[in-house]
Amino acid sequence: MIIDLRSDTVTKPSLEMMEAMMTAKVGDDVYKEDETINALEEKVAQQFGKSHAMFFPSGTMANQTALKLHTNPGDQVICDQYAHIYNYEGGGASFNSGISCKLLDGHRGMFTASQVEEAINPPEFYHSPLTTLVEIENTTNKGGGACWDFNEILKIKDLCKTHNLGFHLDGARLWNALVAKNETTVQYGAAFNTISVCLSKGLGCPIGSVLVGDEAIMKNAIRIRKILGGGMRQGGFLAAAGLYALEHNIERLEEDHIKAKQLGDVLLKSSFVKKVEPVETNIVIFQLNEKYSENDFLEVLSDKNIKIISMGNGKLRLVTHLNYSDNQHDKVVNVLEKL
Ligand SMILES: *Cc1c(COP(=O)(O)O)cnc(C)c1O
Repeated sequence: MIIDLRSDTVTKPSLEMMEAMMTAKVGDDVYKEDETINALEEKVAQQFGKSHAMFFPSGTMANQTALKLHTNPGDQVICDQYAHIYNYEGGGASFNSGISCKLLDGHRGMFTASQVEEAINPPEFYHSPLTTLVEIENTTNKGGGACWDFNEILKIKDLCKTHNLGFHLDGARLWNALVAKNETTVQYGAAFNTISVCLSKGLGCPIGSVLVGDEAIMKNAIRIRKILGGGMRQGGFLAAAGLYALEHNIERLEEDHIKAKQLGDVLLKSSFVKKVEPVETNIVIFQLNEKYSENDFLEVLSDKNIKIISMGNGKLRLVTHLNYSDNQHDKVVNVLEKL
């Protein structure tokens, strides 16, 4: 059996989740007649204290829609150099919205309010792109599942307000951060204009993301989603998985965090590792010393039926998730200890 630690997106729906999906009441969501999607959107909006939420087939599409809602062509978004919207959305910021990214050199994907302040182009200086949006990620993916300091988020929020900038959160793994730091959806809802969350990461759904925001910003979201090809019909079968996951799969994220921490500790003590990023949630990023080349190491693990991925620049990543069982964990710990 393969032990797949490449990502928390590799999970398969449980029997209980599939049961919820198979028995969902559905309708045509393009006519807003899918009651399960409507219920999911209402629930997530309410959790974040926002008036509107919209179901999306992917987190990328939810983020891309948010970028479009906040900007006009030629504008600039401030984000970290590790940002998913910059690195892993196929160049969509420029393709879909015609905007550029001002990249900040943060720490593990996180930056400070004063870095943001310095990066805002003065609106009257027409030679520069107009800054209209600040985007952050929590937890940071390329930053190794690191969690933001909420006080810094509030400082950036104030700055955005002063400079009339939108503030978007890529919360693909926000629930991991909430569980790790004992924070709430409501406090995040109050800090951001828009938030995207993924149901298909730690929450274990096969498909689905949600974008939340208040009416003023969200009123055009349905048009943008349509343009991007994300208007779905009887998508309630998928939304049902989301409703199930919100009910059953959030608290258990703690287990993923514990296992990730244990893997990080094993790696720290091993003879082949140069550096392990501090483990805060379910992602472990580490670098090898000269004992193994990256390819050799991936092959050694692969021979033991363990899959992890390379993030480039000598960084390797492993991610724990709900299909990573206690037995698998024991085996991985054992393999790593013997390398
Ligand atoms: C996974 C992820 C997304 C969304 O990716 P999809 O594959 O489109 O669902 C967005 N942001 C971050 C940080 C992610 O890790």
